[in-house]
Amino acid sequence: VKLISNNCVFCERESDRMHHIIPRCKGGDKTVPSCFTCESYIHSQWSHNELRDTYNNVEVILKNESFQKFLKWRCKQRTDVVFHSQPGKYRKRGKYQ
Ligand SMILES: [Zn+2]
Ligand SMILES: [Zn+2]
Repeated sequence: VKLISNNCVFCERESDRMHHIIPRCKGGDKTVPSCFTCESYIHSQWSHNELRDTYNNVEVILKNESFQKFLKWRCKQRTDVVFHSQPGKYRKRGKYQ
């Protein structure tokens, strides 16, 4: 995985936030640049305990089968739209400034 300075480490688009690779409430302090859409998906998929115990690095998340499907879907979307994940479906949230 190449860590491009300010781009989302998951979809490589422009990031607008930092994702705690181990949730802050679980004592994590390492962050990676992320975009709203990817972070929303990650947090809708996995609980804080799962993030701490299993999905605690970028490679594991990227290799996950359902995340791969999400990324394929993500690549087809316009860059100026962000999506808010809900269990089982994607909802258009509005224009990303
Ligand atoms: Zn992203
Ligand atoms: Zn996060």
